[in-house]
Amino acid sequence: MPESSVLPRHAMVTGASRGIGRAIAVALGAQGVSVTIIYNSNAQAANECAALVEQAGGRATTVQADVGNLDDHGRLLDTAVSAFGAVELLVNNAGVAPKVRADILELGTESYDHVLHTNVRGPFFLTQRVARHMIELGTEGQVVNISSISAYTASVNRAEYCIAKAGLSMMTSLFAARLAEHGICVYEVRPGVIATDMTSGVKEKYDTMIEQGLTPIKRWGRPEDIASAVLAIAQRLLPFSTGEVLNVDGGFHLRRL
Ligand code: NAP
Repeated sequence: MPESSVLPRHAMVTGASRGIGRAIAVALGAQGVSVTIIYNSNAQAANECAALVEQAGGRATTVQADVGNLDDHGRLLDTAVSAFGAVELLVNNAGVAPKVRADILELGTESYDHVLHTNVRGPFFLTQRVARHMIELGTEGQVVNISSISAYTASVNRAEYCIAKAGLSMMTSLFAARLAEHGICVYEVRPGVIATDMTSGVKEKYDTMIEQGLTPIKRWGRPEDIASAVLAIAQRLLPFSTGEVLNVDGGFHLRRL
């Protein structure tokens, strides 16, 4: 099993059963990291991810928890700690898109609350809990928040998602500013258009937009692209940075003329 003293021994990745979270878990596993895989409803996908982490050389455990439900957080952390000890890296990746892309004038409270609870309220209080745990144990850990280009791009048919991701972005700044004195660094990885279940329903739309130049790098992002950025952070390749945003978007964020 490959080992490095700078890598975390134990990473907790939320939403790791599928998509981007799965790729992050496997990339960490390939470096010998033990990974706690948090999933919500798809136990089979979570078990598949655990098998992939183990094949890659890491150790894995799965925990069912709804990150939006604060009552689940205590059990989630206790289970992770009993499996692999102190959490040294938390990746807040779990997220949901609105079930229906409704115009901002039609958006209802149910979708608004669900998306905000899952994508920002849950990660906020989970980070608070894990940060306290790190401080208590003197762990100079790291937190990575997976946000989105939606943190600064206005899509009027999914306002709740944009608001949540903008909130997650400010959450990164806040925890980065507060936790640095404890040796804990906090980062935001901002994906562009990535091929996962989340974007499968809008594949044709984005195929066309990418072909027409939406991004300077003319291809879909892959979950592994995001995993590479998280791995660079986990390897402490950014030791004098905190609160930093890593755009992993094929250049989407560039203003062009
Ligand atoms: P995905 O394929 O839909 O996978 C979502 C993952 O999150 C699954 O593992 C799911 O678990 C988990 N999850 C959902 N709700 C949860 C909850 N309440 N509690 C715990 N886990 C929960 O999504 P993805 O595309 O990989 O997206 C991952 C993250 O990247 C999200 O935060 C998303 O907003 C962000 N992002 C994605 C894109 C993109 O283009 N795909 C772009 C920018 C940002 P189950 O398997 O159990 O359902």
